Amino acid sequence: MSVAPHVYNNDRRYAVLVVDMLYDFVYGKIKTDRALPIIPKSGELADAARSADIPVFYPNDSHMRRDFEIQRWGEHAMRGTKGAKVISALRPRKKDVDIPKTTYSSFHDTRLEKELKKAYSGKGANTLILAGLHADCCVRHTCADAFFKSYETIVAEDAVNSFTELQYRTGLQYVKFWYLTDVFPTKKIVKLF
Ligand SMILES: [Zn+2]
Repeated sequence: MSVAPHVYNNDRRYAVLVVDMLYDFVYGKIKTDRALPIIPKSGELADAARSADIPVFYPNDSHMRRDFEIQRWGEHAMRGTKGAKVISALRPRKKDVDIPKTTYSSFHDTRLEKELKKAYSGKGANTLILAGLHADCCVRHTCADAFFKSYETIVAEDAVNSFTELQYRTGLQYVKFWYLTDVFPTKKIVKLF
């Protein structure tokens, strides 16, 4: 039904985004066991990117009490707390870029776009590869803003998840259909590097 445009096929400049793999999301206040199997895959993806000089970004919730989203979820990933830290298995490395965010999209009121434009000696990244939580929320809303801003997106299907299988599947189906996102296993993505 939908056909990915692949407009950047001749000049791929990737960036990897590891979204919200934080203590509160994996082990804490809004934890889900469904986050556990995606830890090694997210790590694999980030490592392969680093080895290929592909920039790695960590868009992470960093909430204040005034953030509207707190009304929906209660306090989680509060700025400065352990709950807002990336889990140790996926600890960011020196060159990785932390992108604090206050709601679902990694672009909303963040430095992400500016940082993406700085990559590749100022030529900017044009294709975002997403891992992390949740497939139908922060991943999906980041794909939405990426689409609005003319980035192509790839979601690592074994490196994202949601609270339920249904949410996971509908999340992926949604981004494929509306944003022409490619949904590939990590194994296939790292071969593109
Ligand atoms: Zn949040």
